[in-house]
Amino acid sequence: MAEKPSKNEEEYFARRDAELLRQQREAARKAQTEAERRSHHMKCPKCGYDLITGEWHGIQVDQCTHCHGVWFDKGEVETLLQHESGIINRVFRTVMRGVTGAKVPDA
Ligand SMILES: [Zn+2]
Repeated sequence: MAEKPSKNEEEYFARRDAELLRQQREAARKAQTEAERRSHHMKCPKCGYDLITGEWHGIQVDQCTHCHGVWFDKGEVETLLQHESGIINRVFRTVMRGVTGAKVPDA
């Protein structure tokens, strides 16, 4: 004769099921976030087309294959400023001050 599960057993299984469900939802959320991140990797933030990496004045820059926008990783503009002079240097310094509020010494 099968015994009726006790109240403690029912609570145990209910808690276990709730925890498993929570873990499954968390894993699904993490997988979705990671897939979203991967879908944006090396894509132009402006138009969404692919970026290609090239070398310019000894630094790596990413350029859009569609709108030809140029994107710099952290530190790359500073490296460029150490080597580049003239109008582009002044433009970058002005942009960096305006966009990031960075303390950029005059050339
Ligand atoms: Zn683009």
